[in-house]
This record gives sequence, structure tokens and C-alpha cells, in this order.
Amino acid sequence: MATVYEPVIGLEVHGQLLIKTKMFCGCSASYGAPPNTHVCPVCLGLPGALPVPNAAAIECAVRAGLALGCTVRERSVFARKNYFYPDLAKGYQISQFDLPIDEHGSLDIELEDGTRKTIGITRIHLEEDAAKNLHGVGSGTDTLVDYNRAGVALIEIVGEPELRSAAEAEAYLRRLREVLMFLGVNDGNLEEGSFRCDANVSLRPVGQEKFGTRTELKNINSFRFVRKAIEYELGRQEAILSSGGRIVQETRTYSSAEDKTISLRSKEDAHDYRYFPDPDLPPLVVSAAQIAAIRATLPELPASKRARWQSELGLTAADAQVLSAHPALARFFEATAALVAGDAPTAEQRAAAGKRCANFLQAEVLRYVAFHGLEASLPVEASALAELLAVVEAGTISGKMAKDVFAEMVATGKRAQKIVAQRGLSQVSDTGVLEAAAREVLAQNAGQVERYRAGKTNVLGFFVGQVMKATKGAANPALVNDVLKRLLET
Ligand SMILES: [Zn+2]
Repeated sequence: MATVYEPVIGLEVHGQLLIKTKMFCGCSASYGAPPNTHVCPVCLGLPGALPVPNAAAIECAVRAGLALGCTVRERSVFARKNYFYPDLAKGYQISQFDLPIDEHGSLDIELEDGTRKTIGITRIHLEEDAAKNLHGVGSGTDTLVDYNRAGVALIEIVGEPELRSAAEAEAYLRRLREVLMFLGVNDGNLEEGSFRCDANVSLRPVGQEKFGTRTELKNINSFRFVRKAIEYELGRQEAILSSGGRIVQETRTYSSAEDKTISLRSKEDAHDYRYFPDPDLPPLVVSAAQIAAIRATLPELPASKRARWQSELGLTAADAQVLSAHPALARFFEATAALVAGDAPTAEQRAAAGKRCANFLQAEVLRYVAFHGLEASLPVEASALAELLAVVEAGTISGKMAKDVFAEMVATGKRAQKIVAQRGLSQVSDTGVLEAAAREVLAQNAGQVERYRAGKTNVLGFFVGQVMKATKGAANPALVNDVLKRLLET
């Protein structure tokens, strides 16, 4: 019988911290500046320059650790990871090795079919980024180095090899990204590489405990490609193992154009980084009181928001997922829903308000929303949207009119009540006016009235349509319905 193999996948994620300056110097950490303009003796690795740890970076690492259920070490150690490469001016990267700042955490993931699983997080450590080699510039064959990125603060989050499929790996990555974004420590931008992932992938015969030889997939820049790269790699390894071959430990990259992984370099001789504590940096001490103070500022995380919106507001899982896809959107939704609910006394009324907001946001507002990192351009303020929804709820305008009014609010920046007043949009809710229009319609359609009274009550829709037409669409349809029924049944 053919051997059945089980995938073993572990992810290492690098997240650039959302702070103004670099890990060990005061240079700007912003992206996109002209090459080599954000540099100083420290991040250029000039002799005698001394690193000073960035307090904001340390706080970010603690926040991430606490949110991911880690134990935060009160005393961690910066270590030198030694290797030679042109993008590493010092000849070593300052990282953390045997005593990282955070350890032993976990992340709950949920698959598309609803299966839940908890994946262990081995450790989170602080480190500095390398510079960036720019190939094929200058004469066209030169490689130049841009040191703006050198020394930018990162956290590396090392997950346990507990993922058993490409789908689990994607779910883990999505969940991790949203946690970091809601914490405000990372902007989640895969394309610009501020959130990037390496995957360690291997197979072992089902029932065997020992891991097989792994390959490392490097720098994959989208969720879809992570999944495809891992799927391809699992298939490639299975074909080799099934035909009696041996997996070579190596680093591979994913080519989206060819949908396959390609060998970059063999790993066999690249392992000795000769880590040792950095003599320029004393042990990093974070007190229990500091950790407690940071814990007190942790925001509600998206998984918790989704569960709460479903139980308190009756949102569907799909609605909750859409509205929690970005922290700015989640904030906007919650602010609008709170304004619309106002001081509604019952849980049902508050739920109905939340549901109305969720529906209108998804149907009308989302198409105008653009996300830029952790910021988002929302087309109107929460208070303006809440005002519009209140105008609809009061019956002044119909839900259909609300779409037009909203489009005008976005285009002109005017408030809903002003637009309704200026355009004379107020829905006719005066029963006297509606009754007069209804009587006229009934008088003109005696035949249909007889049919209705003979039991063909479905002609009611016809009468409603006629009254709407007579009032040029301004009538409140629910009231028209009531008035017509009353007139027809008396
Ligand atoms: Zn610098």
C-alpha cells in the first residue's frame, strides 16, 4: 500500500512595527523616501556608533505578545546574528535568540468550513531589518544598496509547526494579520512587504512523529500565493517521496507566473549564525508594572468583536467578517451603530439599529471606502450616516431615496436633512393627503376594486403602484398600503 503523508507547516512572519523611528537610532522609519536619506552612523554600522533600543518598538512587541497569549519576559537579550551580505552593513543583524521578549502564545484559527483550531506561537522577538539591494540599476547591471530600511524595527512571530494544510496556513496568516492591525502595531501590507511570511513545509508518513526534511518558502506577498505555494510544494514533495526520492533542505521561492516553487539556495551550510549577546546592548528589562499597564490598553480584538456583533446585534457571520476586515471600518461601524441606537432602551431596538447600519454600510458605503495601510478614507462621518439612517427610520424618506441622498452626501459633503429639505424629498406621510390620492385611484379603477373585494387581494400591489405614481414616488409605501387596505375593506 502506498504511504500516506501528512503535511507539517510552520510559519515565520515578519511584521514591520508602526512606529516613527528605527529600532536602534532616531532615523525615520517611513517608506518611500529617496535612497539613503534616512541613515546615520548607527544604521550604517559605522565603527564606534552605539545602538539605543526604541521604547515604542518594545511596547509594540509587548502588545503583540499579550494579545497572542504569550508570556512576556521581564528580561530578554539582544543577540547578534552574524552573516555577510551587502545589505547588512555591520556584518550582523541585531535580533533576539535564546531569550526572546515573548514566548508560548497561541492563535485560534477558523477554517472556511467553520472548523476551529488553536495554533501554538513559539516566540516573538524584536529585530532590525536589513537594507535593500536594488538590482539592475545605474548602468543596468549594477546593484546598489538603499540603507533607508536598514535598522527598521521588526517583530518576528514564529509559529509552531502545527498547521496541517495550505488552507490552515492561510487562515492563520489572515488571523495573525488582523490581530496585529487591530493592535495598531503593523499595517498588514503584504504588497509593500511590511507584513511578510516564510513557510517551512515538510511531509511525514501519517503516524510518524519525527518531522521530514523541510523546505523554506521565502517572501510570499499575498494570501492567495501563500496558499498556492504551499499546495504546490506539498505536491512536489509527495511526488519525490512516493517515488523513493529524498527531499533536499533548501530555500525556495514561489513564482506566481509559473505557479510553482523554485530553488533559491541550499540551506545545508547556511546555519551557523554564531549568535551571541550583543555587547553594545544591556539586557532588555520590562517591569511587571509596565507589562500590566500595556495589558490595560489592549483593544478588543476582531474575533471578539465578531462574536459580540453576532450575539448582541444579530449580525450574520458573513456580515461580521466584512465589517471587521479593517480596524477603521470596524470603528466606523461601531460608532454609527451606537449613534443610531442612541439611548434605545431594549436590546432588540439596539440590535435592530446595528443591523440597519450593517446593511446600509455593506450595500452603499463600502464601495466608497479606500484603505491606506491602517488608515481608511471613509466617505462621510459616522454622525452623518447616523443622521441619514434616522431620517429613513422616521419615515421621512424611503430606503430607496436614502441611496440617492447618500450619493449626494458623498458628492457634496452636505448632511442628509439639508439634502432632503432642498430637494423636497420628504416622503408624504400625511394620511389625509394619502387617503385623498388613494380614493382617487380607487374611483378610477372600479373593476380592480371589485376583483379585490371578490378575493383577488393581490391587486393591492397594483393600487400601491398607482398611488406611488400619483404622488411621484413621494408617498410612504407602508402608509399607502395601510390606507388602501382600510379603504378597500370598509
Ligand atoms: Zn540611523
